[in-house]
Amino acid sequence: MTAEQLRQYLEYYRDLGFDSLYRRAPAPAAGDSLLKIREDIGDCRRCRLHEQRNKIVFGSGNEHSPLVFVGEGPGADEDAQGLPFVGRAGQLLTQMIEGTARKEGIPLQRADVYICNVVKCRPPGNRTPEPDEIETCSQFLFRQLQVIRPKAICVLGATAARALLPEQREGVTRLRGRWFEWKGIPVMVTYHPSYLLRPYNQNAKREAWEDLKKVLHCVYD
Ligand code: URA
Repeated sequence: MTAEQLRQYLEYYRDLGFDSLYRRAPAPAAGDSLLKIREDIGDCRRCRLHEQRNKIVFGSGNEHSPLVFVGEGPGADEDAQGLPFVGRAGQLLTQMIEGTARKEGIPLQRADVYICNVVKCRPPGNRTPEPDEIETCSQFLFRQLQVIRPKAICVLGATAARALLPEQREGVTRLRGRWFEWKGIPVMVTYHPSYLLRPYNQNAKREAWEDLKKVLHCVYD
């Protein structure tokens, strides 16, 4: 690396709000892979969420993606299909990813990124997952992120923010639009698409688009 490259490198991460040099996420446990993680989940009965689920929703998209989106947990459509973000919130997420990328001149489709959730089974009635359910399931999310080792993670909503940034006590309104770090990987928090579907949240929608713009430029410039 030349001195000029190093300077640009340091400036880039300082602009992102990091004091320290970018650290690579720790390597995944030897031999770990998404396939192995899915096999380890198996027909999971580790917490009460298994009782009413139809399908485990592991994750979907490009397994080598430099960008991973993390949501809360499957809803009814996801539980029926076994795929994340395929319902109304998912359609909005697709529009957000593809619409923002198009406007910013970045050739990117939803299938190019990886999407997963903190909990892999649907909480009954779409309630927020309980802390013990998050604790039990997040080991699989952490392994997924360590295997993929993306250039950035986009956290959708409060549950995912709490799982990846437990030291941050503020709500999404305060966390959004700022860079954090999970094991050396830049993390951007933004609103959950379900929240943005509510008609009175037009301002939040604009903010989420801004957040996404930052993420896409960080990853794809
Ligand atoms: N909400 C989520 O958090 N995840 C999904 O997969 C769908 C809706």
